[in-house]
Amino acid sequence: MSLIVQKYGGTSVGTVERIEAVAKKVAASYQEGNQLVVAVSAMSGETNRLIGLANEISSDANLREMDVLVSTGEQVTIALLCMALQKLGIDALSYTGSQVRILTDNAHGKARIREIDNHRLQGALKAGKVVVVAGFQGVDEEGNITTLGRGGSDTTAVALAAALKADECQIYTDVDGVYTTDPRLVSDARRLDKITFEEMLEMASQGSKILQIRSVEFAGKYSVPLRVLSSFEEGPGTLISLEEDDQMEKPLVSGIAFNRDEAKLTIRGIPDQPGVAYKVLGAISEANIEIDVIVQNVAKDNSASITFTVNKTDLSQAEELLGEIAKDLGALEVDSDKRIAKVSIVGVGMRSHAGVAAKMFEALSDEGINIQLITTSEIKITVVIEERYLELAVRALHSVFELSASDSEST
Ligand code: ADP
Ligand code: ASP
Ligand code: MG
Repeated sequence: MSLIVQKYGGTSVGTVERIEAVAKKVAASYQEGNQLVVAVSAMSGETNRLIGLANEISSDANLREMDVLVSTGEQVTIALLCMALQKLGIDALSYTGSQVRILTDNAHGKARIREIDNHRLQGALKAGKVVVVAGFQGVDEEGNITTLGRGGSDTTAVALAAALKADECQIYTDVDGVYTTDPRLVSDARRLDKITFEEMLEMASQGSKILQIRSVEFAGKYSVPLRVLSSFEEGPGTLISLEEDDQMEKPLVSGIAFNRDEAKLTIRGIPDQPGVAYKVLGAISEANIEIDVIVQNVAKDNSASITFTVNKTDLSQAEELLGEIAKDLGALEVDSDKRIAKVSIVGVGMRSHAGVAAKMFEALSDEGINIQLITTSEIKITVVIEERYLELAVRALHSVFELSASDSEST
């Protein structure tokens, strides 16, 4: 008997018929003798609909109330899925995040899980029940409802798997695994049988929305065996593996991630002195704004400029803060640009190969794409480019690094 945590995303539970189909999949696994905890998302479009309602009242609604609002989407799905399971004769029980006691910090809208009390879950499992848990939500010390950030149901599932020491965490979604890049953008992208945690973490953090980044962090930290599979068709999916497979010939690049979610901010004409970067970036991160790519330049006249990217949703707050810092430092100017995109190539194979960056830059140059910012790690290279060139860049890189299904057939 295995203990399995399954997670079904928004499209997979998008209609009552689909919820009934999910119930059949859950029932089949239960009837094979597995213990099952199922985390679910809101029905597709529901979270956006709720955010839209709030925006009709205020563009700047209170974050605690936003969490009370958006967490309702998942509460609907857990009840409907339990009803569908009960109709199939399965003893199922639904729990909200606070009922399980998924304890988080109090950062509304982007809360982090601190602890899961698995008592109730274990009791219900022992009693032979299938437990259905609302994804995306938790509760803080004071009993306030919190949410874990967009796509957060993945993190709920992995955290539950970690807390219960589950044998596997299965993420069921609307594609049949992790691909070399988003198959919606590149139609001949290839499904990967396996990807390492490290690579998946880079893919997720560079914008590939197939898994929420925190879910991958959790899975790595607690060694949760993680698999991405399709809700709609049978298949092995993609295993996110803890170890690098030495037998496997490592490709140079395993995948390409991209995102359009960031904006670029620049502060110019600041002193080139110790403490200045801290003053600029420290104030931004103290406001709980995540900073991504950072570049500093020093001009001939010894004045410095710092450019960095933040999520578009944090842009106006970051601009405001940067304006204040600019006054403080006597900076020349501050400007921002929303029309940017980030493209990254990811692969553990890069560690042992030189010349990957040159190949990437050549491919972009051949397409006439200007690179605005560059940042690298051992296993990824990221560039920031003008947003309108994003698709062209991803397709060019997918082809240059031979990632298509047809490329793998010919080798
Ligand atoms: P869910 O609602 O099940 O959580 P998501 O929309 O969050 O589903 O994630 C699945 C989507 O992720 C796919 O439909 C696909 O468009 C997108 N995606 C982005 N990058 C990749 C990738 N490398 N491989 C597979 N899917 C990807
Ligand atoms: N319903 C939430 C969202 O749309 C969480 C999730 O689907 O994982 O972001
Ligand atoms: Mg998702």
